Amino acid sequence: MKQTKKAQFTPILVAPSQVIKGEKILGESLGAIASLGKRPLIIGGEKTESLIKREIKPILEQFNLFLSKYSPDCSETSLKTLKAQVSEHKSDFIIGVGGGKALDTAKLVANQCNLPVVTIPTSGATCAAWTALSNVYTDKGGFLYDVPLSKSPDLLILDYELIKTAPNRTLIAGIGDALAKWYEASISSGHSQATLTIAAVQQGRILRDILLQKGVTGVQNPGGEEWKEVVDATVLLAGVIGGLGGANCRTVAAHAVHNGLTHLQSDYYTLHGEKVAYGILVQLRLEEMVQNNQLAISAREQLLKFYSEIGLPQSLEDLGLAKVTLSELRNCAEWICKSDSDIHRLPFRVTPEQLIAAMVSTKVKSLVK
Ligand SMILES: [Zn+2]
Repeated sequence: MKQTKKAQFTPILVAPSQVIKGEKILGESLGAIASLGKRPLIIGGEKTESLIKREIKPILEQFNLFLSKYSPDCSETSLKTLKAQVSEHKSDFIIGVGGGKALDTAKLVANQCNLPVVTIPTSGATCAAWTALSNVYTDKGGFLYDVPLSKSPDLLILDYELIKTAPNRTLIAGIGDALAKWYEASISSGHSQATLTIAAVQQGRILRDILLQKGVTGVQNPGGEEWKEVVDATVLLAGVIGGLGGANCRTVAAHAVHNGLTHLQSDYYTLHGEKVAYGILVQLRLEEMVQNNQLAISAREQLLKFYSEIGLPQSLEDLGLAKVTLSELRNCAEWICKSDSDIHRLPFRVTPEQLIAAMVSTKVKSLVK
């Protein structure tokens, strides 16, 4: 008998199966949620717990609810506890409510238990509600690795009313994270001629332009039209780019710097997107220093101006890391430069010495004009 060869393919995971967005639409989404099961496990964070009880629980009362936290972090310890709760409670689907880490945990638990997942973001800080990817951290919040998931979320509910309850700072951080799409995807895609990759990179440029145009006025007026457009950009469009680009549009130095900073003991002030925003400046600085890249110089100057208008960090001092010692910085730079780091997607070699020099000079004025 002739054996048929099993097809090898990578699924294209562009988007969640269903996206519902609008103001106060959570109540109207009950039918869509109910189509996924009867016994959801709701996963949220410390800060979202009261929000879940106040806003979400009354709406979902018809379900056999079980609430859980992803404490201490989106870590292997939490994943183990939550998976045990899934089988104990006989949960048939997962609802993630909260910021990036809560949603990453919910998606990963659902993936590992082969269950449907609903994502309900409560801030515009990341595109985690959209993507088929989760980051795993240590119990203390140090970045460990990312996990590509076998499918995108089954349902994403973007309720602007919930996003509005989050501090403005979270949306500003989301802008920093979303800006990185252009600076990282345009490098990691290399000279790819693949249609979907080109589309993803160009969407990254459009995303950056929308944020540069509407970011400042958007964050000044929470709930307003421009604010909603900025939320759509950070939560939805940033996710589209990750979905379209897939493995060809991965993170580069900006996220590698973020990942390294999470291992500093004194890193407890800042949000993901704030560290990534600073990481973009470090990446551009490396391109200037190593390649004498003139485009990187003007891009960094443009971003420094934008960061000061919107309130994104431009330096280690702005990240609350003014007192970091040289040896801590050196350990951090060595961690960022380890052989499997995303920083090596840059088209040139980076040493810890070069990286330290870039990390401490993100605000330096360029002499070349
Ligand atoms: Zn990110």
